[in-house]
Amino acid sequence: MSILVYIEHAEGAIKKTSLEAVSYASALGEKEGKEVVAVALGAIEESALAKAGSAGAQKVLHVADKKLNDGVIQAHASAVGQAFEQSGADTLVLAKSSLGDAVAARLSVKLKAGLASNVVALPEENGGYKVRRSIYTGKAFTDTVITTANKILAVKKNAVPLKSDGADAGVEALEVALAESDFAAKITSTDKASDEISLPEADIVVSGGRGMKGPENWSLIEDLAKAMGAATGCSKPVSDSGWRPHHEHVGQTGVKVAPSLYVAVGISGAIQHLAGVNASKYILVINKDPEAPFFKAADYGIVGDAFEILPKLTEAVKAIK
Ligand code: FAD
Repeated sequence: MSILVYIEHAEGAIKKTSLEAVSYASALGEKEGKEVVAVALGAIEESALAKAGSAGAQKVLHVADKKLNDGVIQAHASAVGQAFEQSGADTLVLAKSSLGDAVAARLSVKLKAGLASNVVALPEENGGYKVRRSIYTGKAFTDTVITTANKILAVKKNAVPLKSDGADAGVEALEVALAESDFAAKITSTDKASDEISLPEADIVVSGGRGMKGPENWSLIEDLAKAMGAATGCSKPVSDSGWRPHHEHVGQTGVKVAPSLYVAVGISGAIQHLAGVNASKYILVINKDPEAPFFKAADYGIVGDAFEILPKLTEAVKAIK
């Protein structure tokens, strides 16, 4: 019996969220005595796929069909479903992502598999296959018992330790039969909005709030973001005032981010803002008010004037790099 991990890739490398899914599967495989097999779809170098071994995959199956490059959901679900059946797996692990969610939902029906999404811990076996999941944007946890033989686990970003000490995995070509109907939906063109780092995908986010006083001061946020290789975000009033575009607005009614590091500058930490950032691994808050609510959610805090701190922090980051 084995565990199959569906890995997503972008720009020639496996996505970090998928490496987390492989790491999770590796720990699960160790616990259950099962082999961990990854499957990747579309054009990508074998050497890049072999890196799944560092996170614990013993083998990578590669369906190299270029038609799968576009991430057409139906085709991906069909290919992963066939890989599941061919590899003799009983558990599918994947990253909780837009594509992961869409593939998992389809395969849950096709494979008659119980699905748990936003998983944050390994299943417990006492009294059934109990899986802990994060709910209400990370505010609470719930335990779900899966009773079916086949299981699908979608792993929450930044919730499980990333394993990186394994050796490269062997890569094998996998043939699957894809029907015309799998490509009924076609992506005709893809326009990248800009060369900026995508906010929902970013590993580091530097966000500014009303404490930045106005759009003319945003170069301070941008300079720090550039030095850190980060995306920029903002609070809702900032985008409502037209200081920043709406696609940068983070929070309950905006983008939900899950970076390794979220830097909040001059943001008070209202509950609606926190709802969009509490999946971050670490939070650094810079605020001149020591009583600002954001400090309660922070891992690190600097009490002081952003206009003095930001240039110094940017210089310090540049010096390290
Ligand atoms: P403020 O609350 O005005 O805070 C500014 C902060 O900057 C203060 O803490 C202040 O101490 C600090 N500051 C001032 N000057 C400096 C300085 N020189 N140096 C350092 N710090 C300084 N908000 C969101 O962000 N996202 C959402 O998705 C969202 N959705 C909402 C949905 C609903 C239904 C409602 C009712 C509200 C929503 N809000 C949302 C608004 C939210 O409640 C807050 O009003 C908003 O987050 C506050 O933005 P802010 O922290 O930038 O501004």
